[in-house]
Amino acid sequence: MSHFLTEEQELMRGVAREFAQQEIAPIAKQLDATHEFPWAWVKRCAELGFLGVSIPEEYGGVGADVLTEAIVIEEIARESGSLALIIDAHTSLGCMPLLHAGTEEQKQKYLIPAAKGEKLMSFGLTEPGAGSDAGGTKTTAVLDGDEWVINGSKCWITNIGAAETYIITASTDPGKGNKGITAFIVEKGTPGFEVGKPEVKMGLNNSLTGELFFKNCRIPKKNMIGELNKGFPVFLQGLDEGRIAISAMAVGMAQGALDRAVAYSKERVQFGKPISKFQAIAFYMADMAMKIELSRTLLYRVARMRDEGLPYTYEAAMLKLYSSEMCVEVCDKSLQIHGGIGYSNQIDIERFYRDAKLLTIGEGTSEVQKIVISGRLLA
Ligand SMILES: Cc1cc2nc3c(=O)[nH]c(=O)nc-3n(C[C@H](O)[C@H](O)[C@H](O)COP(=O)(O)OP(=O)(O)OC[C@H]3O[C@@H](n4cnc5c(N)ncnc54)[C@H](O)[C@@H]3O)c2cc1C
Repeated sequence: MSHFLTEEQELMRGVAREFAQQEIAPIAKQLDATHEFPWAWVKRCAELGFLGVSIPEEYGGVGADVLTEAIVIEEIARESGSLALIIDAHTSLGCMPLLHAGTEEQKQKYLIPAAKGEKLMSFGLTEPGAGSDAGGTKTTAVLDGDEWVINGSKCWITNIGAAETYIITASTDPGKGNKGITAFIVEKGTPGFEVGKPEVKMGLNNSLTGELFFKNCRIPKKNMIGELNKGFPVFLQGLDEGRIAISAMAVGMAQGALDRAVAYSKERVQFGKPISKFQAIAFYMADMAMKIELSRTLLYRVARMRDEGLPYTYEAAMLKLYSSEMCVEVCDKSLQIHGGIGYSNQIDIERFYRDAKLLTIGEGTSEVQKIVISGRLLA
């Protein structure tokens, strides 16, 4: 099915697909069981330009558009949700605030090595008391001479430990809620900044997620991103881009689950014929294919809106809501088509089933997307 992609976009899809099929697929299941961070894959992603696809060339990236980045994430997610999430947290969430609101000095120092894949980024917004209500940030930053002093903690942060650079939010005017939040850059190894142990999650085992702690952590004054007390809009913009990336993960993982269902249904024989010959099974797959294609069409449309500089918050919320719920449903149906072996770790589909669930939670839950959509409708 044509999505009217450019030659460059098709080319990048080809590179990503070849990498995913040849270097990820053969070991993804085995690596998932180890819970290890996939450094070798990340290094290859850096070499292939995947850690800076949509960052301009002058800042170390490939200089392609966000649609191309979505296509790369989609192809990688067909084989590994963990690696796709690592890239999402690094590029859409970590790099974008720097690109949109960073000073030239910050871009030179932090964005260029990130886009080249020399240093990974992480994005810390969520706190124990501030999840969906991200404006409830309790971490504080107080200016003391030429330094900001940060105190507090973050939780459920992706790429912890592996990342060298952390973009975080802190309250700089505690009485003002969303209007008193500022974004900062904190380097790994800064005294007073500690990274917690990775959480044991139900899926996405090769991606590290956990807590960050700040205890009188002093960072230079110039590590503030954008304007004082204007950090919230910077993060909301990052989340809109993140919703494109996470939807690309949803489309890719769902496609991976469908591919596996189609292959298995042609091989597995019951009642004297392949189960694909039973209309119940064939119709499941027809529904899965239709829903994936609908999500992909909306994904490419929203990415194009972003690339054209159009407002897309409303559409990104619809995309994220639909595609993440779709991915959970498609992975569930694929497991069903696999029967008993699907419920075992002998084959890969249980990994997709576990990994998919994060998509309806991270970067704004399904309920939060409905708040965004209905808020616009009823405004
Ligand atoms: C694997 C993983 C990786 C993550 N990576 C990152 C990261 O890199 N950076 C980062 O900052 N965060 C990250 N997160 C955090 C994630 O964004 C939050 O978990 C998410 O925003 C939900 O917040 P919460 O967990 O506190 O849930 P809560 O906000 O406590 O929500 C609990 C339930 O209540 C519902 N709810 C809350 N408020 C409302 C409302 N007003 N109306 C209706 N329903 C409501 C929610 O939809 C949900 O169903 C990650 C989380 C996970 C699990």
